[in-house]
Amino acid sequence: MLTTNLSLQHILPLTCSRTGTCCHGKSVLLNPWELLCLAREKKITEREFRDLYCEFGGIRLRFNGAIGYKEQPSCSQYITNFGCSVHLGRPLSCRLYPLGRQIQSNEVHYIYEGNEFPCLEGCPEVSGLPQLTVGDYLKGQETNKFEKAQDAYVEVMQNLADIAFELLLDTGLAESGDKDTLPLWRKMGNEPPEVLAVRIGPEWMDCLMLPEISDYQDDPVLFAKKHNELLQAKAQEKFGAVQTNQQFREASVLLMGVALHLARGIGANPETLAEHWIATAKNHGAIE
Ligand code: SF4
Ligand code: SF4
Repeated sequence: MLTTNLSLQHILPLTCSRTGTCCHGKSVLLNPWELLCLAREKKITEREFRDLYCEFGGIRLRFNGAIGYKEQPSCSQYITNFGCSVHLGRPLSCRLYPLGRQIQSNEVHYIYEGNEFPCLEGCPEVSGLPQLTVGDYLKGQETNKFEKAQDAYVEVMQNLADIAFELLLDTGLAESGDKDTLPLWRKMGNEPPEVLAVRIGPEWMDCLMLPEISDYQDDPVLFAKKHNELLQAKAQEKFGAVQTNQQFREASVLLMGVALHLARGIGANPETLAEHWIATAKNHGAIE
């Protein structure tokens, strides 16, 4: 996809005309801390928010509101003639829009899609509103905490994948000549999110999206760290005593599935990641 790279000094028509155009027909993905923020703003539990307003186990906001811009449905949180009903708890992608954020070689880059400023199509009036630097826009949108949450969940994702690797590579499963695990990792990378969510099942999905953490709700880095501990403890409780290759394979596939589902929620491409992780496993002796 063609993107335009930006610096923090870039000046753009970043004053929103508040028509709600971009709250229609989009895909807004969530990490678990963002789900918590939305639920708090809505003054309901995370489970209630997930069940009422999200899909795929909680990694995406439902867009099932009134039909609006370009005959597309609005976000479940959008109120016609009012705007976002969860403005203070809105997720990173809504704070950034029309910008996006990419990490390459450990460096953060801000971008927008295409070579024309995205708001101009639906809201051409922005060209008459005050312009802002990218840096000032990000400050005004208070993206900082939400960017930290995103980065912290990249680590959680990697740690989940690491358990899947250990179950394949350090248990004797790969050494036994197993050829079934890696094709299943690939299959999950290509699976639609609703299918992968069913494969993961409600117990692990709840553990992924509705962690029982009462502290650190205002500190996404500590929250994600605690969440990571809960996920690791659950993996230990469930799979610490398994012994057969069949059990190791099932556990490895499940944990890789959870990692790939989280990956989608934080905006990564599960197919690309699955291929990357398969190549890494093969470099360490696994076969398919
Ligand atoms: S498309 Fe741009 S200007 Fe229009 S509502 Fe969205 S952010 Fe605001
Ligand atoms: S969460 Fe709010 S800002 Fe984001 S798409 Fe939904 S209504 Fe729009």
